[in-house]
Amino acid sequence: MKIVSACLAGIPCRWDGKAKPCQQILQLVENQEAIPLCPEELWWLTTPREQAEIQQDGSVKTINGNDVTEKYLAGAQKVLELAKLMWCREVIFKSKSPSCGCGKIFDGTFSETLIAGDGICTKLLKDNHIKVITEENLQ
Ligand code: SF4
Repeated sequence: MKIVSACLAGIPCRWDGKAKPCQQILQLVENQEAIPLCPEELWWLTTPREQAEIQQDGSVKTINGNDVTEKYLAGAQKVLELAKLMWCREVIFKSKSPSCGCGKIFDGTFSETLIAGDGICTKLLKDNHIKVITEENLQ
């Protein structure tokens, strides 16, 4: 069983209240081969929410300067717990997200500038030997 970013499965859980549906992900969920999860909603429970990015010091701050690092870490931890319960070895996450991004993320300046790096949840999963790819790897 795979875990996929809920927004890729058409669930409107992004910070701006929108989804980013991906046809291949929708098919996986429909075939019951994948379960959609949103690390941020698992902790925050509210959508929409303030846009946030990982800062150079590794903290996560919203566009208004609120430090939400602990909440991001807590949501990531919940995804890891669920992944272990499901014996999940592969995850397909949404690219560039501060939680789900893999290989590249925004630089913390809210200027749409990309740098090398992983989202908070992706890093935790990788550290626990779970493979993470993004929807960009599917195309
Ligand atoms: Fe999508 Fe991940 Fe952001 Fe949730 S945290 S909206 S699943 S990219």
